[in-house]
Amino acid sequence: MVESALLGEPIRRWLGVPKGALFEEAAQIVSILRRAGFAAYLVGGSIRDMLLGEPPKDYDVATSAKPEETEAWFRKPHYHTADVGREFGTIMVVRHGLTFEVTTFRSEGRYEDGRRPTEVTFDGVDVREDVKRRDFTINGLLYDPIAEEVLDYVGGIEDLDRKRLRTIGDPYARFSEDRLRMLRAIRFVGRLNFTMDQATFEAIQSMAHRIVEVSVERIQQELTRMLTGLYPCLAVRLLEETGLFAHILPNTSSDPLRLLRFQAFEESAYRDISMALATLLSHEPLDRAEQGLRHLRFSNPEIRETLDLLAGVRLLPSLREMGIAEQKRFLRRPLIQKILGIARILVKAEGFPEAPIVLAQEQLSLWDEQALSPPRLLDGNALKRLGYRSGPRFKEMLLALEDAQLTGEICDEASALSWLERSYPREE
Ligand code: ATP
Ligand code: MG
Repeated sequence: MVESALLGEPIRRWLGVPKGALFEEAAQIVSILRRAGFAAYLVGGSIRDMLLGEPPKDYDVATSAKPEETEAWFRKPHYHTADVGREFGTIMVVRHGLTFEVTTFRSEGRYEDGRRPTEVTFDGVDVREDVKRRDFTINGLLYDPIAEEVLDYVGGIEDLDRKRLRTIGDPYARFSEDRLRMLRAIRFVGRLNFTMDQATFEAIQSMAHRIVEVSVERIQQELTRMLTGLYPCLAVRLLEETGLFAHILPNTSSDPLRLLRFQAFEESAYRDISMALATLLSHEPLDRAEQGLRHLRFSNPEIRETLDLLAGVRLLPSLREMGIAEQKRFLRRPLIQKILGIARILVKAEGFPEAPIVLAQEQLSLWDEQALSPPRLLDGNALKRLGYRSGPRFKEMLLALEDAQLTGEICDEASALSWLERSYPREE
């Protein structure tokens, strides 16, 4: 069987140490554990990143030391530890403000919420078993900072070289243990511009409906990371092709242009989460888009901004028909540049008209801040002082006053007052 062949002797690859305080400290932790007689390695994403030539953002340590042993060995000057998941074997070691997760070699049972396994075993687990529980071959590499070599029990080096994402072991089994891995798979492919191994892909395809067993918060978190990653178009394509998309956002309609839009999104100057969500949902009626965003528990500001973008881009085509005041009110929206950004994406992807974007840009270069949002000439108190009776009509009057200001009919207090006399004669 492939697995036993892989889990024999590791493949070794020399890899010089990266520079930097973070690596130095991580290597030091490994040395301390080794000197104390434990096995210890750097493990996981940082090795993948090092081999890809990207600076790791953190280093994790895997060791044969039990949590209490790790705590004991780092009860020394300049170090301290924190319990961040003792039951899963993880102790955080801190030095000079830098933090490292040190985790005991473990094998594990099922994952309950896609975050943590429900039961783990430390006893008799060696490093080979520890890498076997990890999700993808490229995340299952070890680094020995003293020998300066990568140790590969799972075929991760070859997969990195071939730019391929593959589960460690049988993909069906690995996705049944933890459904979240289906989304992690797509996230890593989308981040690294890899291809997905066919068996891994097929397993996701056949298990996609089970993604709903993962908490919505975790789904949202993964989706956010995919959409704001380097290759969101690739991630969206895989979400569609595996069928995950329909389960993540069950009430949205199928949308043949989504991929084209994401191609354009990748070239967009603005690429934050609300831009991505607006790109994703640009075909949905606003209420359905809102429903989807609430279902995935996006934050209120994220939802509001996405809906403002969608509403804005839908209004944009009627810019020419708007009066001057209405145009100015539209163009002074704080999100106007992003609204135009979404419109440009739609121009590239599906023939959205370009003319209103050009018009918007022309007007924006014509009108400065002062022209778009002139300081108010009269307020409600002023109306009261002038003898108007306060009430719902005030709002209308103030709006009409601003209209007159925006169109240039009035420009100072005196002209505002006479305009008011004419337009709203006082009832005695
Ligand atoms: P990133 O750069 O996105 O943090 P990472 O590889 O460090 O990528 P983490 O989520 O921080 O990913 O996890 C660290 C390591 O723990 C992974 O590289 C992998 O070996 C293992 N791991 C994390 N989540 C899972 C999971 N759900 N199932 C199996 N192994 C996992
Ligand atoms: Mg990480």
